[in-house]
Amino acid sequence: MATAMPIDRPIAELFRQPRPLRSLEFFPPKDDAQLAALHSAATSLKRIAPDFVSVTYGAGGTTRERTALASAMLKDEFGFTVMPHLTCVGHTRAELHALADRLHADGFRNIMTLRGDPPKGATAFSAVADGLSHASELVALLKERQPDFCLGVAGYPEKHPEAVSLDTDLTHLRRKVDAGASFITTQLFFDNTAYYRFVEKCRLAGITVPIVPGIMPVLSLKQVQRFTTMCGAHLPQTLVTRLEVAAENADVVETIGIDWALTQIRGLLANGAPGYHLYIMNRAKSALALAAGLAA
Ligand SMILES: Cc1cc2nc3c(=O)[nH]c(=O)nc-3n(C[C@H](O)[C@H](O)[C@H](O)COP(=O)(O)OP(=O)(O)OC[C@H]3O[C@@H](n4cnc5c(N)ncnc54)[C@H](O)[C@@H]3O)c2cc1C
Repeated sequence: MATAMPIDRPIAELFRQPRPLRSLEFFPPKDDAQLAALHSAATSLKRIAPDFVSVTYGAGGTTRERTALASAMLKDEFGFTVMPHLTCVGHTRAELHALADRLHADGFRNIMTLRGDPPKGATAFSAVADGLSHASELVALLKERQPDFCLGVAGYPEKHPEAVSLDTDLTHLRRKVDAGASFITTQLFFDNTAYYRFVEKCRLAGITVPIVPGIMPVLSLKQVQRFTTMCGAHLPQTLVTRLEVAAENADVVETIGIDWALTQIRGLLANGAPGYHLYIMNRAKSALALAAGLAA
């Protein structure tokens, strides 16, 4: 007898539990060595039973197939609830319909729905012919195609770099929610006041869905400087100074990153955040240390 295909629970239902959700973000492995590393990280992470995991979506070519492969592995082999990411970049509406149908047929019910960044070399986003220009349009397309999809969308506590103001950005965020998104995951930030202010503004703008803070445990000063330059997040000088002092010692840098993230998460949960989403760069150590720290 054929085994029934496991169908994921919508993440929106998980938010009804009386405890904060823990979620982890992976990127698709580029080669066999990275695939083995992802497999080993997932094996360790099973212990802390994340409520769901997500897998990012690249700008084109084979990386997209690897998102599908990694998502299938994490779902079918490890039993995680998996939220693959999907972007508008380079896709026609017809391709997006086909992708939605395939994800649905494979048992996925949760999608992180994004416009996407421009591919390498391109300075601005541009939609392909018969493609989509904004994440809100992708939310609408996916909901129309598969009404039982549960969709997450991105939010930017310190404003999306292209937006002229946080208020304009919030108008666009509201459109994503009005089109059918069930929750928001934020861009990384290192100062919780940015998140608190953002949530308050969202509520005033009539956005009522859960807003999950995205937290990145720092692995190196260089890396975090690159990310924050790209996404416009503020890097507090206290953190920079600590990382500079430890620069030569990767283990100490990692410990500083975990300590900072732990303090952030404790504060966020104490102030009512519905959970936390970790940008873990496919490494298990920080997520395991944070789970232990929060349980202590
Ligand atoms: C949690 C999270 C996960 C991510 N995962 C990925 C990933 O897997 N792959 C990837 O390539 N990137 C990913 N990104 C990055 C994301 O793709 C970029 O930040 C991208 O530049 C914007 O995507 P978006 O979905 O927020 O776009 P949108 O919501 O479309 O917004 C993009 C910009 O356009 C503006 N805008 C929106 N709607 C309108 C409108 N109707 N008219 C005018 N302006 C408008 C917004 O204010 C904003 O400035 C992720 C980001 C986050 C926070």
